[in-house]
Amino acid sequence: MSKPDASPPPSPPEEPSLAVQLFGTETPWFAQGLRFQCTQCGNCCTGEPGYVWVNRQELEQIAEYLGEPLEEVQRYYTRKVGIRRSLIEFPDGDCVFFDSQTRRCTIYPVRPRQCRTWPFWVSNLRRREDWERTCQQCPGCGQGELVPLEEIVQQAAKIRV
Ligand code: SF4
Ligand code: SF4
Repeated sequence: MSKPDASPPPSPPEEPSLAVQLFGTETPWFAQGLRFQCTQCGNCCTGEPGYVWVNRQELEQIAEYLGEPLEEVQRYYTRKVGIRRSLIEFPDGDCVFFDSQTRRCTIYPVRPRQCRTWPFWVSNLRRREDWERTCQQCPGCGQGELVPLEEIVQQAAKIRV
């Protein structure tokens, strides 16, 4: 009788790291980290029309924070874009939750992931030129504390923008 095979089953192939999944390499051009410190200028909540994506969970948190029913938050503050939803903007391009008097976000504690992870979006990080373009829009980029690669990659992985 042959002995049972005592060798352990082959382990499943390891998943590529987040850096590899997002940027195709363990050492993207910003491997030494990037500087960022928000100056609270409000530029990223205003200006050119765009999209601030929100999912159901984020809308629920916003509704709870505002003390308004989810359906009303959805109806009055968002619009459908394909199968997704975005916050709406005022005609001047300001986000619907931007207070132009104080230049602050009125839902700051529950702002969507897209806002929380700015400026570390894949679209801002693919090439050095993308980051340089971002620095022109956001005075906090390239300033202040050095944010390490691991943190940047974790932020970028939270939402694909
Ligand atoms: S544009 Fe940059 S510096 Fe200005 S509020 Fe947004 S993140 Fe902060
Ligand atoms: S939700 Fe708040 S942080 Fe996000 S774009 Fe609107 S005002 Fe800015």
